[in-house]
Amino acid sequence: MNEERLRAYIKCSQLFYYGGVEKPSPQTRMAQYAVEYYLTARLRDSKRERAYLLSKAVLQATKTCELETKLLHGQAQQLINQTALWLDEFLNLFSDSMYYPITGPLPWRIKINRTAIDLKISGILRTAKNQTLHVLSFTPYTTRHSQVNDPVVHLKLNALKDFVKKNPNRPQAMLHMLWSRANGHVGFDHITTKSINPEYLKLIGQKIQEAERGSHFPVLPCRFACPFKTKCFPGENK
Ligand code: SF4
Repeated sequence: MNEERLRAYIKCSQLFYYGGVEKPSPQTRMAQYAVEYYLTARLRDSKRERAYLLSKAVLQATKTCELETKLLHGQAQQLINQTALWLDEFLNLFSDSMYYPITGPLPWRIKINRTAIDLKISGILRTAKNQTLHVLSFTPYTTRHSQVNDPVVHLKLNALKDFVKKNPNRPQAMLHMLWSRANGHVGFDHITTKSINPEYLKLIGQKIQEAERGSHFPVLPCRFACPFKTKCFPGENK
């Protein structure tokens, strides 16, 4: 199961059963690919100019996104320009002078009960100040409430916490949740290992056991905008 499918199950098991996913918007995915390419290239060649790597990263992200979206030329151009501005803003927030990358994109497989879950981390940064890991992760959600209740966020923090020794004055890891705002600017917020809730992790474990048993049912009442609305509620207009 990947993280997009896990989110779908936690949101609505019926949605999962229909093959639904909860994934970031095309704008956020473009930003994600650009960041991942930038970090990989920066790790390979730390002396390269930022402007050069930025334009290469946007080009590469465009190629990757073309594989999964069918956009009209004008829309694609707008997305490319938006991604370039997004990445520039991101690199000002996480500047090379403050942060240095220790890894680029990282697929991460954890196992809960009998289910393997594939998590995705876009990169890990460090500062010269302390040992806290700054983990970059893209989110489909745009509100703090949805982001901090995202099971994927808690699983990532839990998997990362053992890489750094505990210290009462700072968190072991800080997960930076990133997205592209509707106006094209960088959306970002963070949550740290200090916020890991064992009760919530237990609940995620129980949900995964339900998924393994094949339990699925619609959410009632369902207030989600969902492509499967007419399948779940054939008599309703919307
Ligand atoms: S319409 Fe509602 S209940 Fe049905 S699959 Fe979608 S989210 Fe779940």
